[in-house]
Order: sequence, then structure tokens, then C-alpha cells
Amino acid sequence: MTVPTATDRAARAAELRRQLDQAAYEYYVLDQPTLSDREYDLLYRELVDLETAHPELRTPDSPTQRVGAPPQSQLPKHRHLVPMLSLGNAFTDAELSAWDERLIRLVGDAVHRSGYTAELKIDGAAVSLTYRDGVLVTGSTRGNGTIGEDVTPNLRTIRDIPLRLRSGGPRIPPAIEIRGEVYMPFDGFERMNAARAAAGEPVFANPRNAAAGALRQLDPAVTARRPLRFFGYSVVGRSDDEGGPLPVRTQWDLLDALVAWGVPVAPHRARARTLDEVAAWAHQVEHSVRPALNFAIDGGVVKVDSLALQEELGVVGGREPRWAIARKFAPDIAVTRLLDIRVNVGRTGALNPYAVLEPVEIGGATVKLATLHNFDLIAEKDLRVGDWVQVKRAGEVIPQIIAPLVDRRDAEAPPPRRRPPAQCPVCHTAVERDPEEVAIYCPNVACPGRRLEALVHFASRAAMDIRGLSYARIEQLVAAGLIEDVADLFTLRAADLETLDRFAEKSAANVIAAIEDARGRPLSRLLFGLGIRHVGATAAELLARHFGTLDTLARASEDEILAVRGIGAIIARAVVAFFADPSARHLIAKLRRAGVHFSEPQPVMADGVLRGATVVITGTLPTLSRERATALIEQAGGRVTSSVSKATSLLVVGADPGSKLEKARTLGTEIIDEPELLHRLGIAPPA
Ligand code: NAD
Repeated sequence: MTVPTATDRAARAAELRRQLDQAAYEYYVLDQPTLSDREYDLLYRELVDLETAHPELRTPDSPTQRVGAPPQSQLPKHRHLVPMLSLGNAFTDAELSAWDERLIRLVGDAVHRSGYTAELKIDGAAVSLTYRDGVLVTGSTRGNGTIGEDVTPNLRTIRDIPLRLRSGGPRIPPAIEIRGEVYMPFDGFERMNAARAAAGEPVFANPRNAAAGALRQLDPAVTARRPLRFFGYSVVGRSDDEGGPLPVRTQWDLLDALVAWGVPVAPHRARARTLDEVAAWAHQVEHSVRPALNFAIDGGVVKVDSLALQEELGVVGGREPRWAIARKFAPDIAVTRLLDIRVNVGRTGALNPYAVLEPVEIGGATVKLATLHNFDLIAEKDLRVGDWVQVKRAGEVIPQIIAPLVDRRDAEAPPPRRRPPAQCPVCHTAVERDPEEVAIYCPNVACPGRRLEALVHFASRAAMDIRGLSYARIEQLVAAGLIEDVADLFTLRAADLETLDRFAEKSAANVIAAIEDARGRPLSRLLFGLGIRHVGATAAELLARHFGTLDTLARASEDEILAVRGIGAIIARAVVAFFADPSARHLIAKLRRAGVHFSEPQPVMADGVLRGATVVITGTLPTLSRERATALIEQAGGRVTSSVSKATSLLVVGADPGSKLEKARTLGTEIIDEPELLHRLGIAPPA
């Protein structure tokens, strides 16, 4: 490796400055970035490292020496009384510790006495709102940190922003600036981009740029139509005679004061004593909280809790506070190429389009496929094969395409639109479309594509739960001619399986035992497993409980089914149609001959040990599935709900619990584990 010379280094620094300046202009001024945040952050880091090692390379106009970009629009300018800063970044736990160590070197143990407040880092646009005597008078963007744009009329259109602060909380100083983030929730962002794409307008690269763009509109009526929201995170009191000191001493209490004044504050904040707690919070937020949020975050912000200590620590290089740091997460949105749109036949015959993507790394995993839901959505988003598209991957959820980047399309020769297929891609039967639905169907019940999916669904965990019967094995059994429909599974013998590849004596015996076991599953699982159109796990359970046996349900009229609480007309019609279909009758007769159980154990509501209790389950229980635990609790007279509130009597906790555990602790709800639940239900724990 050759050692870079001083000339090389200077050239590299100049090149980095040029690239970062261009990117910042596109990002802050045009709201149309061409680099991803990760790419920008890496270049920025490289420049910081170069400048730290060689301070002579640092120029006064280096991007590392300033915040944002100068305001350039025709909007009036606003000078901030206290500068609006950027934040230092930590991309790893080690970098977070290094930040903490720097603080300890500066102020020693005071950091530990203060503790930290950790907040979501909302990926929106920073604004400052000036309130005089509790009334909103001006609002502006961050701009270059010293001068921003006055966007008061636009900010007034955002319904989260109080025009007058509520009294009742801590005293409101006569003149304060409330700082926070204007953001656009994902659902609103997707709707807005779909409408823009349909109108041939350029779409926004991400919710942050959409929010920033909406905020800087010259016409407030345009802003008002954009789905903007606001979260507050800081209060700056004027240090002149007008303002007086803030009525709080910590960041945590400051956030509470904002809430009391009627300003929304982002959820999931945490107060921590140690940095380990902060790191654990950040991991939980990245992996459990972020996937479920309806707005974008790009990390967490960790702040020294004591406001006095914040003041003492001050600002580094006029750019970032020393007392706060952004713990950045891996991005969960990426841009890649849409290589193909393919169609898969579902078990109900629905033809499901999906996207084949140029593999791209998102949130630590390689993404190659994304769901496209249905053909209407493809048309609505105007997705075309060959487009550059934004893909979002949220936790374990199947990746989704947010929007195509229409401006990267060849304007001269745009790729053609993809029409929905006229025929099933597997059996070539002409497709059908129910006028009330968006999906198109292959109507052929004997379609091999449908049959395979039906078998896979039947064996799946939420249905008959046949362990060891994977997709590949089912494909193998079908290919070998051993099974055609779900009833055939119950006639399989170990000897049949042993003749196949990849089946040893033991695995064959295990599969047969699992099938044997499934014979006795409750009716609700069988009903769900049969794949009746529109009948999901919940509807199956309602029907099974109400009718008790398959034969009673099969004889029921549409009206009788409609009488079941929670069942609507579409499901009732589909159930009657299913049982009227000769092929379904034939299948049921086969299942009966195979000795499959056709009834539902009835719950013992009246005198159960959990009568009247409202129970919440969180985390993975060691032996019980969610469904099983719910059924047992309901049989004992309890009710299972999804979120913890004052009305919750009991929280059952498993491994990796979510924020529900925290909430239950705060509310003083009784918390038990699975062994204790089984004990109370009088069930012997598994050996
Ligand atoms: P930043 O966005 O990384 O962090 C500072 C900002 O975080 C604050 O100004 C505030 O608006 C916001 N914030 C959100 N929640 C907060 C909370 N709870 N408490 C305090 N602040 C909170 O820094 P920046 O200076 O605004 O922008 C730099 C970042 O912007 C880069 O790291 C990069 O990711 C991105 N960027 C990207 C490009 C590009 O081309 N893609 C160009 C320029 C900047």
C-alpha cells in the first residue's frame, strides 16, 4: 500500500468537501437527495477523520464546520436567538461509550449523577416555534442554524402545533422557543407519493424530504394539504429580562412540561441511570419499536439529563452540543432496481404479484423480493419493470416498495406498464375478478399452483401445525404423486416417505407422528386450514365456537352464520359457497374417513379461574403458542387484549418482552410467567 502524500490528502479533502456540499444542497435546499444518508454519513466521517488528523486541511467553509445549508428560497428570513444545532453521531455502542468517556473526562462523576434521557430521533425537519405569553407568534426552519426561513403561516396549518399553550402545567415563561421536528407519517407519505406518481409529478425520496419540502412551500394552502405532524423535544428560554429561567431542571421534566403545555412529544422515551441502559434501550428501539412505528426515525438521541450540566458542557465547534449524541441506526429504506414483476398463485386462487429486486442491503439483511399486494396497487404506484424504486423493510415484515423514482426513468422511452395477467400462470385457466375486490383469481380448484399453496397453508403453524412438513417437503410429496389434497396427508405411511430423497427413517417417522397429532386439532384450526376464502384465524375461531361441529356449520344458512358476532356478509356468503361446492364436500368426506376431528372443545367461561380478568401476553412463551395461551385463558373465563392499560389485570411475560412490560411495571399490573399461568390454570407444566 502506498502512503498518501500531503497533496493526495489535500485533493481528497477538497473532493469530499465538493461532494458533501453538493449533497447538502440537494438534501436541504432542493429536498431531492441523490445520495443515501448512509453514503453521506460515510463521506462526512471520512472528512472529519482527515481534518482531525491534519487540522491544516480544515477550511472555514468545510461542511464539518456548519449546520444545514443557507436558506435560499423566497421565504422571509428569521434569525434564531439561540442557534439551532446539529448532533454528533455514534454508529456503534463503542462510539456511544467514547462519547460518554469524553464527558466524564470533562466533568467527572457529574454525568452519572445526572443520568440520561433517551428519545427517538425523528427523521423530519427541525423547526423552532416562538411563543409569547403562551401564544404562537413565529415559526421557522433551522436553515444554517443561525438564520432560518420564517414559515409561520405553514406551521399554523399543522394541527399538532398548539396555537396557544395550555396552562395548568409548569409556569410558561413569557417568551420561549419550542424546538422540535415536523415529520410526515408513512401512511400519509405513501398516499401523497402515489397521488404524485399518478399525476406524473416527481415523488419524494423519503418522508423527511417530503416534510421539509412541504414546510417550505410559498403557499400555506399547499402545506395544509400535506399530512404533516409535529413532535417537540426542547425548550429554549430567552436569557434576557423577558424570559427568565425555565421552570424545569432536567430534560425529562422538560418533555413532561411540553406534554402539559399541549405539545406532542415522541413516544418511547426513556430515562436511564447508566450508559448500559441507554445502549439496551437503543437496541430495543431499533429492533422492536422502529418496525411498528408509523413515522421514520433514524436513531435515538441521548442527552445528559441535567439542564445545568448541559449548559456547563456547551457546544463543540459551534456545530453540535457536547451533551447530546445521535445513536444512529442502520437505514431501513434503500433504493434499488425493480428487475421483474412475477405472479404467484395463492391457496384461494388469488394471483399475487411480487417484485424481484436487484439484491440490496436493508437493515442488516439482503432483500431480493418485495410484496406488491395486487395489480391495482401496481397501477396506483405506477411501478414499471426497470424502475429505480425505494424499498422499505420493517423488522420481520415482508419488504414493500414505497414508490418508483419517476425522474430516474428514461423520459424518451419509459418502460411499458404491466397489465394484470389474463390467465393463471400455472394452469392457464382464464382469470376471474370479483367486482367487489381488487384481487384477481384463478377459478380452477384443481390448479396445481393452488393445490400446493393449500397444502402448505393447511400444514402451517397457525393452521394444523404439522411440524416437519416444510414447503420443500410438501412439493416433494406432490411431485412423487403421494398427495393431491389435504386429506391425503392422513393416509401417508412412513414406508411411503422413506423411499423419498432427504427422508431418513427418523424424519419420516417424525412427520407421520406430527400428522397423527394434527388429526385431533380443534375445529377452528381445521376450518382455518381448509383455506375458505375470507376465513382467517379469527373468523375460524368465532365460527368453530359458535357452531361447535363441522357438520352443524356445513348445514348453516347464510343468515344463521351472519348471526355470529364478528362475522360479516362477505364471510357468511363465502362459507355457504364453500360447503355447497361438490369438491369441498368430497374433501370433507375424505377427511372424515381419515378420522380427522371435526369439533371444537367448548370453553368453560362461567366459573373459570380467570373469570372477568383482562390479560395481556408479551414476548415468546417457552412452550405455549400465542393462540394456545389465548385459548386457555379464554377457557378459564379471561379476556385477552393486545395492549396494557389500567384495565389490565394480568401480564403474562415470555422471552424478549416488548414495551408492554415497562408499561405494566409503571401501572403496577400483576406480572406472571408461563409456569405460573399454567399453575393457576391447573395445568401440569410440560416435562
Ligand atoms: P441530524 O439530522 O443527524 O441530527 C440533528 C437533528 O436531529 C436536529 O437538528 C433535529 O432536527 C433532529 N432531531 C430529531 N429528533 C430529535 C430529538 N429527540 N432531540 C434532538 N434533536 C432531534 O443532523 P443534521 O445536521 O440535521 O443532518 C445531518 C444528517 O442529514 C446526516 O447525518 C445525513 O444523514 C443527512 N444528510 C443527508 C444528505 C444526503 O445527501 N442524503 C445530505 C445532507 C445531510
